[in-house]
Amino acid sequence: MSYDFDFFVIGAGSGGVRSARVAANLGAKVGIAEDRYLGGTCVNVGCVPKKLYVYGSHFSEDFSLAKSYGWDVGSAFLNWDTLLKNKNDEIERLNNVYANLLDKANVELLPGRAKFIDAHTLEINDEKEGSRRITADKILIATGAWPFVPDVPGKEHAITSNDAFYIEQLPHSIAIVGGGYIAIEFAGIFHGMGVETHLIYRGPLFLRGFDQSVREHMANNLQKKGIHVHFNTDVTAINRNGRSLSLTLNDGQTLDTESVMYATGRVPKIEGLGLENINITLTETGHIAANATFQTSTPNVYAVGDVIGGKELTPVAIAEGSAVANSLFGSAVDVDYEHIATAVFSQPNIATVGMTEEEARKQYGDVRIYETSFKHMKHSFVGDTDKTFMKLIVEDQTDKVIGCHMIGADAGEIIQGIAVAMKAGATKAHFDSTIGIHPTAAEEFVTMREVTRR
Ligand code: FAD
Ligand code: NDP
Repeated sequence: MSYDFDFFVIGAGSGGVRSARVAANLGAKVGIAEDRYLGGTCVNVGCVPKKLYVYGSHFSEDFSLAKSYGWDVGSAFLNWDTLLKNKNDEIERLNNVYANLLDKANVELLPGRAKFIDAHTLEINDEKEGSRRITADKILIATGAWPFVPDVPGKEHAITSNDAFYIEQLPHSIAIVGGGYIAIEFAGIFHGMGVETHLIYRGPLFLRGFDQSVREHMANNLQKKGIHVHFNTDVTAINRNGRSLSLTLNDGQTLDTESVMYATGRVPKIEGLGLENINITLTETGHIAANATFQTSTPNVYAVGDVIGGKELTPVAIAEGSAVANSLFGSAVDVDYEHIATAVFSQPNIATVGMTEEEARKQYGDVRIYETSFKHMKHSFVGDTDKTFMKLIVEDQTDKVIGCHMIGADAGEIIQGIAVAMKAGATKAHFDSTIGIHPTAAEEFVTMREVTRR
């Protein structure tokens, strides 16, 4: 049986684009459908614009720090229109970069929404181009995820991260609901931009799944900065009152803000994909079930990235997409999920690799914990400020470093290198015998000698 394509990818995001390019470079005839934006979530409404907004919002702290170094910076204010325009221009530039990457790799781009007709046939619907059918031997679902907003009365007044990237005017105040990556990052972004910011989390301490000390330090840091953190709090209704929103909370109190943003997780994007026309098993969480080679319950259909769940991070989607293409058209590649470093681009950053203390104690029992918390040298002249926090978790028997956590400036940049050392099996003795770079914050990772607790 001959098909139009050897390999067809649905979704030109992080996982899909990488998979398509690798397959085409290995000689396969490849097509890709995209119905919204080239580069997917990360480029358009995720990592990239988020990091630009983090940089943008950090200037308020930088300006106030500059004064203590003798700079007269006058009265600084944010021109939101300029930031929004520059951000949009940069995203457009990246969309074009992605189009060129696909073109250069000889991947045929079919704009439009793809839907399965059967296991080898897709219908691609596009407003401009109309509808067409294509056939493919192997098909990859890389359709990503979409923000989830719980069913709260008045939820139509809420924005999500997708909208937050395009708001035309900064609100004076905002309530952010959630306690994961997006909630913490956007609390820092809005606060840094001068918006009175409330963070509403349903449990006793946010960032579930992160190391307990990190979660506690971060709660202190955010509160000290002036972000209003409401733990054990939920919104039960949202009502509009002219320009303002009135949020009813679970304790019966109300909170008035100009805007409310829900950052309560993301759900796999499978609606309208025509999965009912093929045999696709879903997991309990509604993600597409895939085996270790990313094959779904329909043998010629594969799935990678956020749509299969797990660690929903761009480098993971890229590694999975690349593994599928290599395994199908080159030689088999596995994805190694151990020691995946990750950062929350809060202010300051959180970065982490390996186990939390809680996981390490459960798995190994005997562990040594090394912790330090100090004022960053850059803040020498400033009174009360964020504390940099660092933590190493060492398995007692083997001396291996099995967890490393940091809160502090550029934590993401620092932890990436430590992830390499941990992947190579570094022990605490290796850390101790490494001579530090002075004066840096990072050198603390090789100078911590005192065990904080066992
Ligand atoms: P996506 O990148 O979402 O791509 C899916 C693509 O498929 C989309 O372009 C979509 O339009 C298209 N599509 C969907 N259905 C169809 C269809 N039927 N037909 C045609 N096309 C379709 N990760 C990090 O590692 N670091 C970060 O700093 C980071 N920050 C983030 C910040 C935010 C606010 C968000 C929301 C996410 C962030 N992430 C970050 C997560 C990261 O963006 C995702 O893990 C990553 O984009 C997943 O890649 P993917 O290929 O699975 O899906
Ligand atoms: P997360 O899963 O990280 O966090 C969701 C938060 O919403 C949790 O605190 C959760 O609470 C809470 N929540 C869930 N349902 C409800 C509800 N019904 N009512 C109230 N609160 C609720 O999701 P995010 O949306 O923050 O981000 C999605 C994913 O995108 C992340 O997990 C991450 O993989 C990726 N991402 C990565 C970034 C990075 O690498 N820097 C940045 C942004 C996103 P509870 O813990 O109690 O369940």
